Order: sequence, then structure tokens, then C-alpha cells
Amino acid sequence: MIQFPSVPPGDRIVVSASAFMAFQRCPENSNARFRGEYGPPSRPSFIGGLAHRVFARHLQTGSIDDGAFDQVCREEIGSAPGLNLRMGELGIKPSQLESLVAETKMLYDRFRRFPLDGFVGAEVEIEVEPVSDVVLRGRVDAIFDDEAGTRLVDWKTGMLGGVDDQLTFYALLWALDRNELPAGVEAVSVKTGERDRATPQLADIQELAGRVAEMVTALRSAWAAGEESMERTGGPWCTYCPLLDGCTEGRAATSLLAAN
Ligand code: SF4
Repeated sequence: MIQFPSVPPGDRIVVSASAFMAFQRCPENSNARFRGEYGPPSRPSFIGGLAHRVFARHLQTGSIDDGAFDQVCREEIGSAPGLNLRMGELGIKPSQLESLVAETKMLYDRFRRFPLDGFVGAEVEIEVEPVSDVVLRGRVDAIFDDEAGTRLVDWKTGMLGGVDDQLTFYALLWALDRNELPAGVEAVSVKTGERDRATPQLADIQELAGRVAEMVTALRSAWAAGEESMERTGGPWCTYCPLLDGCTEGRAATSLLAAN
């Protein structure tokens, strides 16, 4: 169904949806992730991560009582290494969790108003290897199945923003894994109620597969040539880039943002 373009041989590479999105914004930012360099954690991203755990728990085991919510949050933080780590990096002590739990609860109260008919899976990991040593990986927040077919859903805990590439990346994963197109892909902002729903088209998915292959080719070429840096493109995303301090483009972009 999908013809993944050929790429030059090289190191095994795992491309996640977030790495692909980062590459579309700024190739060097994505390259830094492959070196294991990530930006500083933020309070919104911590709350977003916790809220996603709570949403998944709701979908898997049912509604969470108000009286149990604080304890559920603490359990989720304790069992999710990523959240635990970020909490430490943000310098949050367990005794200071109250306001974070309260913000997460506000998101959860909105989330549980959404209709969940047809739910079949939460936090579904999909991993495919369309060509040797190129692995594509993603985690779909929720999968629904109804008379229209399978719908892949991504929950957002902030503004919706541009989600087309991310949703098409999930559709690509699904198509490569199941050899069929999902009937729908959807991003939903739990915070604002915004919703972006699309019916994936084969041509769009094929086009995105081409951009993933271009990304793999560019990264492997840069690594093989021993290039110290790839192309840099500044924008709002620079704020959370680990390279910001030493990046001229990033500093120019963030000063412009600060001036506006
Ligand atoms: S600071 Fe901005 S322009 Fe510089 S590498 Fe990071 S994302 Fe790219």
C-alpha cells in the first residue's frame, strides 16, 4: 500500500513522531535529540504528561473518583520514570504537588465530558521497520472503532496548533503496520475543546513517507560526513531547545518573540 522510499545505508535509526516534527521545524534540533540532548522540562509539559497518564487510566479502568484523584496522580508519577525524572529536574518536591494535581484535575474534568463510545485502546505503541534499519515509532493516545472505521486520536492539553504532520505520521504508522488506512485521525484539545479531524488520503501519507525518508537521508549523510551541525531554523520552538544558548538563529528568534 505505502512504498517507503529507499534511503542510503547507515546506522540504525528510530524516528518517532516527535523527532520527525522536530526535524520539520529545525533539523539541528532533531539532530540534538539523536545525540540524547533534550531541552529543559517545563511545568506545562509535566502537567501534560501527567494528564495523559490519567486519561489513559480513565480509558482503561474507568472514571476516577474525586477523592481518589490526588492518590492516582501520585501513583502515576511514581510508576512513570519520565514523569519522576522531570519532577526532579523541575525541582518539585512531593509536598509541592498540590497545585500541579489541581491543574491536572481541571483537565481531567473536561476530558471526562468527551464521549468515549467505540474506545478500543489507549496509549497504543506502533513500531514498524519499512526498510532495513529504519524504524518508525509512535504512541497513539486512543483508538476508537465505530461504524465509520478506526479513528486514531491524539489528546492535547494546550492549544491545538499545527497537527497535520503529526496526525499523518500516525496514519503512516497505521498503514505500514496494518496495510490499511485508518478511517480518521483526530487531535482534540482537552483544554480549549478545539478539534481537528481528517480522513487520511493515500497521497498525503505517501508524501509524508517521502519526507521521513529525506530526513533519514539527511541525518545519515551528516553523521557519515562528521558534520558538527545541520541546518538551523529559528522559531518559537527555540525556547525549549537545548542548543539555544550557543545558537545565533535561536537567540535571534527568541529575542524577536520577547520583543513582541
Ligand atoms: S535554538 Fe532554535 S534554531 Fe537553534 S538549533 Fe535550537 S531549534 Fe534550531
